[in-house]
Amino acid sequence: MYDAVIVGAGILGLATAYHIKELRPNDRILVIDKLKGPGQGNTAKSAAMFRTFFSSRTNLLLAKTSIEFYEYVEKKLGYDLGMRWTGYLFLITEEEYKRNKPVLQTMKNMGLEYKIYDADYLAKTLNINVKVSQDEEAQMMGLVDIDYGLFIPRAGCIDVDSLVKFYEQELRKKNVEIKCGVEAKELIVEPKEPLELPGEPYPWQEASVTGVRTNIGDIKAKKVILATGAWTPLLLDKIGIDCHIKAKKRQIFSIKADKESLKKLLYTKGFNPENCMPFLILPKPKIWIKPALEEKAIWIGLADEFPREFKVEDDPQPEMNFYEYGLYPVIIKYLPQFKDARPYSSWAGLYAINTIDEQPIIFETHGVLVVSGASGSGIMKADAIGRIAAALYAGMEYAELSGGERIKTTTFSIEKRETEPERFVL
Ligand SMILES: Cc1cc2nc3c(=O)[nH]c(=O)nc-3n(C[C@H](O)[C@H](O)[C@H](O)COP(=O)(O)OP(=O)(O)OC[C@H]3O[C@@H](n4cnc5c(N)ncnc54)[C@H](O)[C@@H]3O)c2cc1C
Repeated sequence: MYDAVIVGAGILGLATAYHIKELRPNDRILVIDKLKGPGQGNTAKSAAMFRTFFSSRTNLLLAKTSIEFYEYVEKKLGYDLGMRWTGYLFLITEEEYKRNKPVLQTMKNMGLEYKIYDADYLAKTLNINVKVSQDEEAQMMGLVDIDYGLFIPRAGCIDVDSLVKFYEQELRKKNVEIKCGVEAKELIVEPKEPLELPGEPYPWQEASVTGVRTNIGDIKAKKVILATGAWTPLLLDKIGIDCHIKAKKRQIFSIKADKESLKKLLYTKGFNPENCMPFLILPKPKIWIKPALEEKAIWIGLADEFPREFKVEDDPQPEMNFYEYGLYPVIIKYLPQFKDARPYSSWAGLYAINTIDEQPIIFETHGVLVVSGASGSGIMKADAIGRIAAALYAGMEYAELSGGERIKTTTFSIEKRETEPERFVL
């Protein structure tokens, strides 16, 4: 009998286990994952970008404190997490800038830093074609001119493998068992007072989740924690619990910066201490372009919405047509350096999207605690999410985040949700 079995050794399962052990060092914790090792689900598929720039207090708290914790892990605990402060550069239109000005002012008052670059500067430094409307094809595609660059310096990327290794090593030191290749097939639901009748529990019996049925047998625990990301509804739907999470495919295409013009773009100076291009976000569609310095490559992706289906898949595949006809024609209009560039590698993963407000889901019901729904920002928010889930597990009303700020453990629940809408949406 374990105190807790955590299903899912992705970044959220690992962070949750870590913080449970901080709060309850003597609890017996088991983490299981159906894959071969920790962090091999969507955690491994991520672009691993982070930013401390959100308008909603809840979003900001999760990201800001998690990033501060990762900095602490690097500086004080001596783990190299490969954090690189590349910055984010949102390429925006005059209209977007005007619309967001009041929000940006509020964010400035909150102490958040940003810088505005004009179009001429962007054209000069990054060789961006800011006036795409002069191109007939671009016009037909509905592409818009870039008027400004909104630069966020407290942002960058992290090495996810190193972050996973940090948690894994610390968990092993704290005697947390991690078993991979173990798949939870279903949740075990039992009455509090079993009468050994067939088909228990009946509606008049008090019942709860008491464990997981797996390919290596039943595992019983006082608390079952589901950190199963995009796969969470597969287990919860079967017992009638709605977690409001849906899965959507996301893809990344990696281009080697071997051409002179791409090398020049990758190593653009003047934006950050890494002397590389910042993480770029085009105005419409919001294709993002990441400097992947270790690989001497540039990653490209887009969180496309309509009409991309919601679908849970075990092994989603990247679609070359999506690159060829969806991304490439747009990119070369803004950044002609990419002419003829084709990916040398590509992969796809799933966002676990919480359909209420796209912020995480952390709640407990009928003996099962759910920590998931981190959408496209689970890496940058994992430490804080893990702390909240751990505090909820420990029966606490508040969780203490890195740096000491407190947040109610019900903030990301379904019934007592207190998230703030994100207004910084470019
Ligand atoms: C293409 C892409 C780009 C992204 N870019 C960023 C980014 O730049 N920045 C950022 O912060 N976030 C990004 N994300 C999001 C981030 O990767 C996720 O939010 C985060 O990894 C979620 O972690 P998780 O632990 O909830 O999920 P996962 O890492 O998917 O972990 C869930 C685990 O549960 C296991 N599991 C599921 N069901 C079972 C079962 N029945 N039995 C046993 N094990 C089970 C799975 O094998 C998996 O390992 C991106 C995601 C994708 C797909």
